[in-house]
Amino acid sequence: MSALEQSETTAQHSNGAPPAARGQIAVENPATGEVIGHVDDMRAEQVDAMVERARRAQPAWEAQGFDGRAEVMLELRHWFVQNRDQVIDLLVRENGKTREDALLAELFYVCDALGFWAKKAPKYLADERIKTHSLLLLGKKVFVRYRPHGVVGVIGPWNYPLTNSFGDCIPALMAGNSVVLKPSEITPLTNLMLADVVRECGAPADVFQVATGAGETGGALVENVDMIHFTGSTRTGRKVAVAAAERLIPASLELGGKDPMIVLREADVDRAANMAVQWAMSNSGQICMAVERVYVEEPVYDQFVEKVVARTLELRQGAPGEPGRVDIGAMTFPPQMEIIRGHMQDAVDKGAQVLVGGNAGTGPGRFFEPTVLTGVDHTMKIMTEETFGPVLPIMKVRDADEAVRLANDSRYGLNSSVFSKDVAKGEQVARRLNAGNACVNDALMNYLALEAPFGGSGESGLGARHGAPGIRKYCAAQTILVTRFGPKREPTMFPNTAFKAKAFERLMLLMWGRKPRRKR
Ligand code: NAD
Repeated sequence: MSALEQSETTAQHSNGAPPAARGQIAVENPATGEVIGHVDDMRAEQVDAMVERARRAQPAWEAQGFDGRAEVMLELRHWFVQNRDQVIDLLVRENGKTREDALLAELFYVCDALGFWAKKAPKYLADERIKTHSLLLLGKKVFVRYRPHGVVGVIGPWNYPLTNSFGDCIPALMAGNSVVLKPSEITPLTNLMLADVVRECGAPADVFQVATGAGETGGALVENVDMIHFTGSTRTGRKVAVAAAERLIPASLELGGKDPMIVLREADVDRAANMAVQWAMSNSGQICMAVERVYVEEPVYDQFVEKVVARTLELRQGAPGEPGRVDIGAMTFPPQMEIIRGHMQDAVDKGAQVLVGGNAGTGPGRFFEPTVLTGVDHTMKIMTEETFGPVLPIMKVRDADEAVRLANDSRYGLNSSVFSKDVAKGEQVARRLNAGNACVNDALMNYLALEAPFGGSGESGLGARHGAPGIRKYCAAQTILVTRFGPKREPTMFPNTAFKAKAFERLMLLMWGRKPRRKR
């Protein structure tokens, strides 16, 4: 019986909401309040043992080469496509998201990523010949090779259990590492199921393992692995960074955001309004790069607000069921409800107006109504702190300069977007934003460009996923210098002589001795 079957059986026997046994974590369906499974809350010794097994399994996996590992990835993609209903059902049940979000933003992404990394890993990680400029290296060959770190730890959040957890394991595995994944304790079931699946698709035992548990389990993982990739809040990310720094292991951090959208006066207001509603409300706003605040130039402000309100009122919210039933699902993480309420109360107390929504939805599950606010400013948490809910605050600005100043008035810098029919102007504004990523007349779609790095600036993270940096981070770069036909002795070798010192001095003067001419 697989680990997941065990957890589901426990849930069936428990029938309802039993207290989790000691050392177990109960997993709940946020849209119904039902307990749907239990997983182990793994202790540090269990994590140590897992990493030890992963370490033993890694050399054989690396030895399979890119082609051997790619075969496993493509087999896995086939498995995901064949078992799509099972995967979508489980994601919907443990996260409370809509079937459409589970299909497009999770399953579709992971299938795409499996093929992408299977194909691109050999190119991104091929030996790189370096042509060096140094006269002293004439005739010597220099190249860089990328070798896997060994055992990579991946720690994930609950909002995208597949994309932001297993998705980050794919390039790590393709690079030749073993991986121990610690999914969120709120949504561990889909990833736990994959521990068996990856093996059945051809990976040697222990090359991919899943350590279930809460924060301490994640902490134990950081203490043992050779490299850590973390996705989650800035608060936890900072702790992970400190622990990794203590051990001097590399860490890649994908953290929170407060992503701005700017709507300029010449924008296609319909498109901007549709995008704002889509990407503020999708997955109940529980997206790291959700549109969390909008700045609209005065001439189109009223029109924009009117359209956003109309679109928001059309949204259907409720427990996800058959395809197309609802647009917005549940709030996955219980404390998130209090954070949203707190941000709303703070905004209203300081003068904001709630045009749509503003309240918790009706249960038994957890919901928050799609909400639109105006009359907001930067004294309010709703404009400065990550809300992570289906809430869209809109602020009127005089001009593009004010919009840029306010967009940059943030400790975060993940994604951002600018709307203007004058594309050159839109690009100019995008270049002025302090964010790791920016879209013009679009939002979030940059995430699908797997060839391009996606990472945050400021407190939104360090490092990137996707593109060459997204797989090279899972490797140590080793520079190799080869001298094929070397003389017995070179001028740089002992003994030191006055003649050689003079010769090197002359060489230096010849190369760099002339005073530089200043450009006026
Ligand atoms: P979180 O920081 O609370 O938890 C993330 C993971 O860290 C969980 O698996 C948790 O168990 C683990 N953890 C907790 N304490 C730990 C410790 N001391 N050491 C190691 N691991 C520990 O985040 P969350 O609430 O699960 O996720 C929501 C956050 O994730 C939001 O801030 C969101 O913006 C962010 N996020 C960022 C991205 C991105 O790509 N930048 C993507 C998705 C989510």
